[in-house]
Amino acid sequence: MLSISKTAYLFCILFTTVYSVVLPSGCNQGNEPQDIDNAIQDAVELARAALAALTSGKVNGNENVFKGAYNPLFAPEDRLEDHVVLHRSNRYWVDKDYASKPNAKPMPIPIGVGDPAKGLKPGAFGSYATLGYKFNDEYDTEGHGHIYIAENRRRPPTNTFRDVRRYPDIVRDGLDPRFTALENIKPLAQTMLHELIHVAGGLTDPDPNRKNKRDFKINDGPSNDKTYGWMKCNKRRKTRKPNIHIADCITFLAQAIYLQIGGKDTYWTTGEVDINTLRPKHIPRQTS
Ligand SMILES: [Zn+2]
Repeated sequence: MLSISKTAYLFCILFTTVYSVVLPSGCNQGNEPQDIDNAIQDAVELARAALAALTSGKVNGNENVFKGAYNPLFAPEDRLEDHVVLHRSNRYWVDKDYASKPNAKPMPIPIGVGDPAKGLKPGAFGSYATLGYKFNDEYDTEGHGHIYIAENRRRPPTNTFRDVRRYPDIVRDGLDPRFTALENIKPLAQTMLHELIHVAGGLTDPDPNRKNKRDFKINDGPSNDKTYGWMKCNKRRKTRKPNIHIADCITFLAQAIYLQIGGKDTYWTTGEVDINTLRPKHIPRQTS
């Protein structure tokens, strides 16, 4: 069983910040406010399920189901960078990666109720946010994250050749026989989760060689080799390239963990399952 990973930390940040970062934004002026609200809820559900699985190393109490979701995308040694630490006072947690600009002091993370001495981590109760958002020091965006969801995701065309039902509906009603590959299951919440992961990951330090520009720490992979989709993430994993800083790989991990069809063990080891057995569909050829 693996211990808590960076991914787990990220999901923890994600589902505790999502309410404070996203919901009050009030800039959702589209015609589909209900769909967007549902997608946010579902993204949080996925994050919650992923966090539980990553901390226990199990899905449905089963280690092998977890491995089916995790191993094709991440390495066992993709562990937590310990930048969320207990403050000297023992009274609250601080994120060492997040320092306020004027005095470079670490920004405390309030944890609501709960006692750090009892091992309670930030987010164990209630919400908190650690995002101080500056794309560079000339453009201070005052601590806001902003997510825009593209038109064709909010209102997918009818000929979209993917399963765009909500995650909870897919789990309850079963897989669509046309879309039994993870890659082809793409609810609105998947995009929402992907974007939230960028936001939750925060920004790099300013780069003096690039006019102090900052980048997302969780990005979409190398600029000459953008990484979207389970297949691409799995390909990287097979060639031992790390996926821990890639938003879509983290998103697909959550999707694989959450999509336990009808509550039954669902093995996403090969990225596609047999609709009847929920076992891996194409067993990869042995390399000998
Ligand atoms: Zn992205």
